Amino acid sequence: MSWHYTKKTLGIYWFRLLARLNSILLPTYADNADCARCRDCGRTVHDWHTDDATFVAVTGNLGGVWCWDCFAATARAKGISLECTVTRG
Ligand SMILES: [Zn+2]
Repeated sequence: MSWHYTKKTLGIYWFRLLARLNSILLPTYADNADCARCRDCGRTVHDWHTDDATFVAVTGNLGGVWCWDCFAATARAKGISLECTVTRG
């Protein structure tokens, strides 16, 4: 078992712990097993999409799920300007 694997496994357990605490302590973001959760704030992530290049430019890699607010705040902090369009799914 490599250190990389151990680190990833611990990250998953850490995220699950934070998600559990979040669902108990922050009832505003009620637990919903059908939705992915933002890796930064823990709230459920609703549909939004960006291309891979923009995602990597803002987050540094293609891993994780980000809500729009955390993604936009990170982009702003890095001086990356985002343009939004509303589409019908
Ligand atoms: Zn978030």
